[in-house]
Amino acid sequence: MSQTLVGLGGNCPGPWGTPAESISRALRELGTGGITVEAVSHLYETAAVGRAGQPPYVNAVALIDTPMPPEALLRRLKQIERAAGRRGGSPWGPRTLDLDILDYKGRVKHWRGNMPRFARAGARPLVLPHPWIEKRPFVLRPLLDVAPNWRHPVTKKTVHELWRRVARGDEGRVMRAL
Ligand code: ATP
Ligand code: CA
Ligand code: CA
Repeated sequence: MSQTLVGLGGNCPGPWGTPAESISRALRELGTGGITVEAVSHLYETAAVGRAGQPPYVNAVALIDTPMPPEALLRRLKQIERAAGRRGGSPWGPRTLDLDILDYKGRVKHWRGNMPRFARAGARPLVLPHPWIEKRPFVLRPLLDVAPNWRHPVTKKTVHELWRRVARGDEGRVMRAL
């Protein structure tokens, strides 16, 4: 498996506009400097997870190709988040733009068995694949758009199967495509 997948999300307006506008701009920025954006999912409006009372999120997933190593890719994603007005802030709190590496070419890093070793957000080393994909409807639904044949690099479950399991749940549910 050699796909690289980036998750995009946001639920606050920033210098680039609404969350949907921030995501569109982030995709344009992503497509510069050694990264090719090969496919982009629909944008979905999803229920915020974590702190109560947050505005809904907009989420998407992009299939990209890059020769950059994953650490450099993560640095690039963080640069784009900053340019989109993201400031420190608490993990899982409201933000203008959040970019996660969901999968880097099937690579596994910092997992022990079927559990990520640094599951909590906050300062942590790069974990691949991203720890919470299996539990997150707002990641799985757009992932299904761009990579319908994708399998989780650790559990080997298909994106279809994972989506079926969480589609009816309440946490981070997908409300509509935009
Ligand atoms: P979550 O990671 O649960 O979606 P979050 O996106 O809100 O929560 P952040 O505050 O954006 O969390 O990131 C916390 C830390 O996670 C950052 O320091 C980042 O370096 C690290 N990190 C580890 N693995 C990844 C990954 N695969 N993609 C993005 N960031 C990662
Ligand atoms: Ca995230
Ligand atoms: Ca993040």
